[in-house]
Amino acid sequence: MTAHATGYFTHSDCRRHEMGEGHPECPQRLDAIEDRLLVTGVGDALERREAPPASLDDLMLAHDRMHLAALQGLEDQLAEQIEAGGPAHIHLDADTSMNRHTWEAARRAAGAAIAATDAVMAGELENAFCAIRPPGHHAERKQAMGFCFINNVAVAARHALDRHGLQRVAVVDFDVHHGNGTEDILAGDERVLMVGIFQHPLYPFCGDVPRGANMVNLPVPAYTRGPEIRALIEREWMPRLEAFRPEMIFISAGFDAHRDDDLGRLGLLEDDYAWITRRLREVARRHAGGRIVSCLEGGYNLGALGRSVEAHVRELAELA
Ligand SMILES: [Zn+2]
Repeated sequence: MTAHATGYFTHSDCRRHEMGEGHPECPQRLDAIEDRLLVTGVGDALERREAPPASLDDLMLAHDRMHLAALQGLEDQLAEQIEAGGPAHIHLDADTSMNRHTWEAARRAAGAAIAATDAVMAGELENAFCAIRPPGHHAERKQAMGFCFINNVAVAARHALDRHGLQRVAVVDFDVHHGNGTEDILAGDERVLMVGIFQHPLYPFCGDVPRGANMVNLPVPAYTRGPEIRALIEREWMPRLEAFRPEMIFISAGFDAHRDDDLGRLGLLEDDYAWITRRLREVARRHAGGRIVSCLEGGYNLGALGRSVEAHVRELAELA
């Protein structure tokens, strides 16, 4: 184990959450990542760790107690429903539903982000990637939505601030969709700088007007490609990140802005994800002792997802 190691946090329970036949946010997403890291040998360079479940106290760092009670209530209701021979899912909105493993998966996902933060803060790892689902960045303080129940990145960022005593953390979101949940939770928290780039208009159809001075939102139209996105990031994110001097960087790593992903219409390629990661690693090295915790968000074309995560993790681990 060295301080330059890159961690890989996951848990088998994250595979057991599923939202019905044909849903794009499917367990096979994690298999695609695992397979790609295995065949390329990149997995061998990572320090693999099992995610513990987050506690209710952990989740309350970013969520309202009533939201958590509601999810737990649905979990109980689902168990009774299934016992009685009823459907295996409860729908929260048109494309977000729970099965009987969802609550446990969500607790492991947030637990991965917290454990990764602890390991990086302890200097056991330089940085870490959390291969987790359900994703989190649409989950608001009081609301599950858009495939998300618990905001993993917001929980971990607050954990770093409130429990590890950091004074400045950056949250970076390059998913094709705006991280409305993270914005809902962290807008106005001056200890946080959040930078995001996303297709607009697109679900969740907001973010074009930032909700706080600590939010740098870059809405871009459909069909924007890598070179334009890199130029925007260079011009709009980098000076803000440099001036903010984050002590740690959290990444909402969604890979659905990939050209081959059907949930969005942006044109990023594997090289673009490598470039973004490299630029963030440079900021982290300059200001944050290299500390980065990256959490999987979207990414629904399984081939593109596996290759993009590989490119991202190669840069985190400096294998490129
Ligand atoms: Zn997304």
